[in-house]
Amino acid sequence: MIPYGKQNITEQDILAVTEALKGDFLTQGPTILKFEKLFAEYIGCKYAVAVANGTAALHLNALALNVKPGDKVITTPITFAASANCIRYCGGEVVFADIDNDTYLLDIEKVEALLKAAPKGTYQGIVPVDFAGRAIDLEAFRKLADEYGLWIIQDSCHSPGGYFIDSKGQKQNCGNGNFADLAIFSFHPVKHIATGEGGMITTNDEKLYKKLLELRTHGITRDASIFQNSVSFAAGQEVPENSAYPGWYMEMQTLGYNYRFTDFQAALGISQLSRAHQGLERRKEIAKKYNEHFSNHNKIKGHSGFVEGHAYHLYVIEVEDRLGLYNFLREHKIFAQIHYIPCHLMPYYQQFGWKKNDMPKAEEYYKNCLSLPLYPTLTNQEQDFVLECIERFFKL
Ligand SMILES: *Cc1c(COP(=O)(O)O)cnc(C)c1O
Repeated sequence: MIPYGKQNITEQDILAVTEALKGDFLTQGPTILKFEKLFAEYIGCKYAVAVANGTAALHLNALALNVKPGDKVITTPITFAASANCIRYCGGEVVFADIDNDTYLLDIEKVEALLKAAPKGTYQGIVPVDFAGRAIDLEAFRKLADEYGLWIIQDSCHSPGGYFIDSKGQKQNCGNGNFADLAIFSFHPVKHIATGEGGMITTNDEKLYKKLLELRTHGITRDASIFQNSVSFAAGQEVPENSAYPGWYMEMQTLGYNYRFTDFQAALGISQLSRAHQGLERRKEIAKKYNEHFSNHNKIKGHSGFVEGHAYHLYVIEVEDRLGLYNFLREHKIFAQIHYIPCHLMPYYQQFGWKKNDMPKAEEYYKNCLSLPLYPTLTNQEQDFVLECIERFFKL
């Protein structure tokens, strides 16, 4: 069986998890801090906050940015639903803008048109997605966001290790916090780094970082410098006003959640992260072979192509008889996948008035898109078999 994506668990990973299980902490221990630090180094940002999953990361971001009922936030219809849902968790309104035909990414011109058409202050934020692993040009989005006073949450679930080249010719890693206020990653088994469930938030903003730590753990703080109750109340008896707060004391100051990650997952994450570069190189190799095969192919309407900085989470082709090819591949135990059914046409979002033809490019893309197997342990032989089956299908 050849899936579209798959985790790669090695003996080294298993050993790392076993060691963590023997330690003093299953959760809230030092391994999480270590993973956060190493991940921040890998991405090139100041702060990283490990959380239960990518969706929790998105939810915490929306909370940290104070999304409220009635807030309007723009995102792409070609993404996993969670990119939009996080706004709904806070009662905000999701406004979809169409994709660009060539990149499959949120089209900045469509976003700009929305912003221009409404009075300033109508929209509060944008959630751009590095769909398929292709880094979106966040420098351009930042410029636009600043013009209209918007925040940016970058959904980088597909793009750890990906980058774009900015206007000064510098590499800008996905999620490095230079342009977005907050960025998120997922460690679901199909993503580049797998910890079962898991997610990470990255940022360069210290204030947001501190807020996220609080929100991750019930809204509780142990930072004495911001305690609101008096020290005598905390002590349970009259003590001089300048006394230290007792060791047990903490305050719940906002409504938070338990979105924590565990130490044994962090151990797996650290071990996985040490091979992230290697995995990315292998993904690029596989993508390159697909590129060579599909360039000038008369049956392929479009494909992921070669782009510098692409993290190749997915390799998407566009093909006329997508259903036929999908089923033919399945008969040969090749499980290609569709990314994504346009979010705005999910019945949940249709209740807000979204309907067919609202996003013509995303809807056209959906008719033909197919994600081919792409993961580091896919062998050359397996990839050849995938290509052979595709050609056999075209000859039917
Ligand atoms: C996987 C994914 C998520 C959600 O991550 P989970 O860890 O599964 O909650 C969000 N956005 C995108 C683009 C994803 O691919």
